Amino acid sequence: METIRIPSIMKETSKRHLLRGKTIGFVPTMGALHEGHLSLVKRAKSENDIVVVSIFVNPTQFGPSEDFDRYPRDMEGDMEKLKREGVDILFMPDARSMYSDRFSTYITVKDLSDKLCGAFRHGHFTGVATVVCKLLNIVMPTRAYFGQKDFQQTVIIKRMTEDLNMNADLVICPTVRESDGLAMSSRNGYLSPEERRAATVIYRDILSASDLIKSGKSNPVDVKKQMHDMLKSEPLISEIQYAGVYNAETLDELNEFKKQNLLAIAVKIGNTRLIDNMLAEF
Ligand code: AMP
Repeated sequence: METIRIPSIMKETSKRHLLRGKTIGFVPTMGALHEGHLSLVKRAKSENDIVVVSIFVNPTQFGPSEDFDRYPRDMEGDMEKLKREGVDILFMPDARSMYSDRFSTYITVKDLSDKLCGAFRHGHFTGVATVVCKLLNIVMPTRAYFGQKDFQQTVIIKRMTEDLNMNADLVICPTVRESDGLAMSSRNGYLSPEERRAATVIYRDILSASDLIKSGKSNPVDVKKQMHDMLKSEPLISEIQYAGVYNAETLDELNEFKKQNLLAIAVKIGNTRLIDNMLAEF
């Protein structure tokens, strides 16, 4: 596995592969890799000649009171995992090479960025869209891989790549879960053993909401109420930021079911913010 730290060298390397007619699969990450990330890598590996993974904890997507400084970092472990998966190139820029002193261009995907997580993390999706745009411009992948775990992120990146006529095909991969259903996340490591047990309520809540939708006997208001009631019954949940049924394209709350319905939750357990979602058919 080749490690590249300088954006211009990454760009030259990608150009060389593309000129030789190779396809490039790209998996952007913030590291502390788990099986969720590795499922994206495996998919990229099966569909492309060359696989590039980036590890970059992007400062511009963290708010001032968020966990940028303590975000988990495990460079050695990550490199080991990526080598084992047969990744060709690890792109690991530092913040200064991505954001010069004179950096002044930001991408904001309007409306979509203010909903759901965006209402609680101001500026977060501008940071995400900007860094993903930069990474796609540097790596120039044929396909880029994202997890459904961060559903709103996938909707925003899709909008951005369409609006700005960007080239990469986006591939959205299913959420990988622990055996008790908790969506894998680098932030799960923040949870105490009691909090970790409590966190299983999130997926159970989504599953029962999905069952209620499938029963055909409810409406989004009832589903939202059931979701909130179940989350409130878990004493270790310190804040419910949102939980309900949303339009999977506009991210607006639904008044009546559509064929595809987005069930989405963001809660805090102690100080740890966790999200999850599922698409439920009516
Ligand atoms: P992150 O390192 O959290 O920025 O995540 C990098 C990529 O991995 C994003 O596209 C995430 O959506 C994806 N990802 C994170 N957790 C999971 C998971 N449990 N299952 C599938 N993909 C995931």
